[in-house]
Amino acid sequence: MTDYDIVIVGAGITGAAMALALADSGLRIAVIDRQPLQHPVADPAGGIHDYDPRVSAMTAASQRLLTDLGVWQCMPAERLCAYTRMHVHERDGTGSIDFAARDIHAPALGHIVENRVLTGALHDRLQQLASASQGGTTLTVLAPATLQAYHPDPEHGAQLTLDDGQHVSAGLLIAADGANSPLRQLAGFDTREWDYEHHAIVTTIKTRDPHQFTARQCFMDEGVLAFLPLASADAAQDAQHYCSIVWSLLPERATDLMAMDDAAFCQALSQISEHWLGPVAGCAQRHSFPLRQRHARQYYRDAVVLIGDAAHSIHPLAGQGANLGLLDVQVLAEELIRATKAGRTLTDPLVLRRYQRRRKPHNLAMMAMMEGFKRLYADQPLAVRWLRNTGMRAVDQWSVLKNRLIREALG
Ligand SMILES: Cc1cc2nc3c(=O)[nH]c(=O)nc-3n(C[C@H](O)[C@H](O)[C@H](O)COP(=O)(O)OP(=O)(O)OC[C@H]3O[C@@H](n4cnc5c(N)ncnc54)[C@H](O)[C@@H]3O)c2cc1C
Repeated sequence: MTDYDIVIVGAGITGAAMALALADSGLRIAVIDRQPLQHPVADPAGGIHDYDPRVSAMTAASQRLLTDLGVWQCMPAERLCAYTRMHVHERDGTGSIDFAARDIHAPALGHIVENRVLTGALHDRLQQLASASQGGTTLTVLAPATLQAYHPDPEHGAQLTLDDGQHVSAGLLIAADGANSPLRQLAGFDTREWDYEHHAIVTTIKTRDPHQFTARQCFMDEGVLAFLPLASADAAQDAQHYCSIVWSLLPERATDLMAMDDAAFCQALSQISEHWLGPVAGCAQRHSFPLRQRHARQYYRDAVVLIGDAAHSIHPLAGQGANLGLLDVQVLAEELIRATKAGRTLTDPLVLRRYQRRRKPHNLAMMAMMEGFKRLYADQPLAVRWLRNTGMRAVDQWSVLKNRLIREALG
């Protein structure tokens, strides 16, 4: 007798959404995280230090899924920034592309959402469902609790040992425990991985000029810089003056920038961005981390299936990691619910293979595209520079292709 039909390891964006997507399936679900669940964020941001340095650019497809899960509508509207334009250009060239929501008659290209705001809303919904299902025990949250050991059990699925000594058994385990996924490693999955040789610096900045709800991205020989507009309360004097930045660049350069004091860093940023939004007036605490691409060769093995960053982690330049994870959630939930209705076991290779077949090519294509961009914009001979500038200008002028690209990016 297993304790649960499904145990999800990890309650980040992907794992929490997975638990919610299965909450009505009639299956006994448990979700485990080494961190306590987060509280919802209710107040509008009052200043530069109030924002989470980690943000995600959510596509319309992610918004739809999160709305269906009852999460999107619980995030405070004053912390969601709908962006209506996107400007991409090359610093040392002449090419640029402008995408506008109005070109495809959409209200927005996407929303910039702080990870803390999204996770707070996901966890709040998890708590509500977990307490509502206490009698029927359909959804259980075990947090904080850390996975320490995994024992496959060919007859009944698998057993997990947690750091408090508890043993938990499950018919199927879903690994949503992030890029370094302990469960993926314990279960012996093979991955293909390589270093992007980039570090990403993230922080919140305040700018002199308003962002005008435009996401900006600049390609340079040494990396990519993105300014992502943040929401602030309308009444606030500083509305439209906060952006989250993701600056991915060579590790040595990142180390130099991290060592600077705030004033020197803001000056370097103003210079490199060529005063996109006037001088950068201030920044919050900076964080830097190495970027690594990783893709599991198989998404399932025995009684374990991988989703989100546990299956694939990609360069943040397209802002797609969390969006891809949410698409995994949608497809895996569909397949598991279909299997349950058809009376199949959840670990049936036919079921898990269908999930892999529906998600792996899409995730691979996105990873290949990011790798291509990274290489295209690495220091290149003059002919390649000319070609990419000409290509960028051509795409900008070719409205059919451009609108197609926007729709793809919207999901
Ligand atoms: C600089 C940067 C910018 C980005 N910008 C964007 C963007 O604009 N748009 C976008 O879509 N994506 C973006 N991403 C990617 C996105 O942040 C990730 O893809 C996403 O957060 C992954 O979510 P996850 O739930 O799969 O994993 P994680 O967020 O890593 O969650 C894993 C969870 O597992 C738990 N866990 C780990 N080990 C254990 C254990 N042993 N036991 C129990 N629990 C455990 C952790 O506590 C955590 O809660 C960005 C990434 C970076 C680095």
